[in-house]
Amino acid sequence: MIPITSFAGKTVAVFGLGGSGLVSCEALIAGGARVVACDDNAQSLQAAAAKGVPTANLKSADWSGFDALVLAPGVPLTHPKPHWVVDLAQRSGTEIIGDIELFCRERRKLAPDAPFVAITGTNGKSTTTALTAHLLKAGGFDVQMGGNIGTAILSLAPPAPSRAYVVECSSYQIDLAPTLDASVGILLNVTEDHLDRHGTIEHYAAVKERLVAQAATAVIATDDDFTRAIADRRERAKKPTIRVSETDALPRGFDLSGIGSLRGSHNRQNAAAAIAAVQTLGMTDDAISKGLRSFPGLAHRMEQLGRLGRVLYVNDSKATNADSVAKALVCFPDIFWILGGKPKTGGIESLREFFPRVRKAYLIGEASDEFARTLDGAVPYARCGTLDNAVAQAARDAAASPAPEPVVLLSPACASFDQYRNFEIRGDAFRKLVLALPGMKPVG
Ligand code: ADP
Repeated sequence: MIPITSFAGKTVAVFGLGGSGLVSCEALIAGGARVVACDDNAQSLQAAAAKGVPTANLKSADWSGFDALVLAPGVPLTHPKPHWVVDLAQRSGTEIIGDIELFCRERRKLAPDAPFVAITGTNGKSTTTALTAHLLKAGGFDVQMGGNIGTAILSLAPPAPSRAYVVECSSYQIDLAPTLDASVGILLNVTEDHLDRHGTIEHYAAVKERLVAQAATAVIATDDDFTRAIADRRERAKKPTIRVSETDALPRGFDLSGIGSLRGSHNRQNAAAAIAAVQTLGMTDDAISKGLRSFPGLAHRMEQLGRLGRVLYVNDSKATNADSVAKALVCFPDIFWILGGKPKTGGIESLREFFPRVRKAYLIGEASDEFARTLDGAVPYARCGTLDNAVAQAARDAAASPAPEPVVLLSPACASFDQYRNFEIRGDAFRKLVLALPGMKPVG
C-alpha cells in the first residue's frame, strides 16, 4: 500500500467505498490523515466501518472542516448531473480529487523521477497497459501495474526511485487527477463512448487530452481526428510527442507476425504505443523484441486457449459489441463462431462483410432469434441455446473441416447477463469447456 502523506494532520472526506475508495481511506489513514468516509450504499458503508474506517453522513456534515473530497471514479462528477456530494464539496470550495491524484502527489514527493507510464484511450487500455508492464519487466525494471486495470493504484508498492509504474486510467479517473504528470502518457484513440458521463464527445476528448497534456513525453496514436488534433496541439506547444499509427509499419526490427496474443491492426496500435513508451524509458530494442514474443495477452481478449489437432480455440468473451467482434473476425479465415447472449442495439448487421470468413455460427442466449434472422441465407447456423452445446457442436464441425487452421471462436457480440453475471465468468466457462475436450493441448 502507498501511505498518502500529503494530507497528514488534515481531514479528508472520501465518497464511494467500493474497491478503490476503501483503499484510498486506508492509504490516507496510514499517511496520517483523518478520514470521514461515506457511500450511498449501506452495505459498503458497513464494510468500511467493519475495517475500522470512520464513517459519517456527509449530507449533514460540516464541510468547512474538510481539506479535500476524494471521490471514487464511478460517482458522477459532471454528467448526467453532479452527485449530491460533488454539489456539497463545490459549494464549500473543497477540492475534489481521486486516487490517481493522491498517487501523483506522493510520487512527486518521494520519487519524482520514478518512471510513470499512464495509459488511456477508448479501447485497448488494458492490453497496452499489460503489454507495457510486461515489456518493462522483460527489460529488468521493477514494475508496478494498476489503476483501472484491476489493482487500485494505492494498493501498489510505494514510489521509489527505480520503481516503474504502469497505470491504466479511465476518463473518470483522469477527470479527478488535475496534476497527472506521467513521464510517458499514452493516448490510444477517442471514439464515441461513455457519453452519458461526459455529455459530448468533445468534452470526453478534452478529458482524455489531460492525460497527455502534462506528460513529459506523449505517445499518441493518431488514427482518429480527436487524437490527431491533440497531437497537433502538443507539437505546437513544442512538447515531446511521438506519433504512432495502426497503419504504419512498426519501427525497424520489430515484427508482430507469429505473436498470437497481438493479432490484428488494433493490436498494432497498442504495440506501437507500448514500444514507443518503453523506448522512451531507455529499453533496448533487443529486450523489447524478446518481451513482445513472450507477451501472453490478456484473458478474454482474443485469448488463445489451446489446440486440438489443427483447430485453434480462442476466447474473446470481452467482445460484447459488434465493433469488438469485427477485430477478431478479421484475424481468421475459417471461423466456427460462437455468439449470442443479451443483444445490443444494432446487433451483428455491421459484421456482414466478415460473414464469408465464418464456416458456421453457433447461437446461444436471448439474441438467437435476432442473430438467426441476420445470418439467414449468408452463414449456416445452429441454435445451441447454451455454451456447452455450442462448444460441443463447434468442436465436432471444426475437427471435420478441411481448412488448414480452423478456429473455434467465442466472440459473442452481446452482453452476458442473460446467462452469466459478467463477461469474465462467461469466458471462464468457455475456457473450462474447451480445456476439457479430450486431446486438447493448452497454449502456453
Ligand atoms: P479497454 O481496457 O480499453 O477496454 P482492452 O485492451 O481490454 O481495452 O480491449 C478490449 C477490446 O477492445 C478488445 O477485445 C478489442 O476488441 C478492442 N481493442 C483492443 N485494442 C484496441 C485498439 N487499439 N483499438 C480499437 N479496439 C481495440
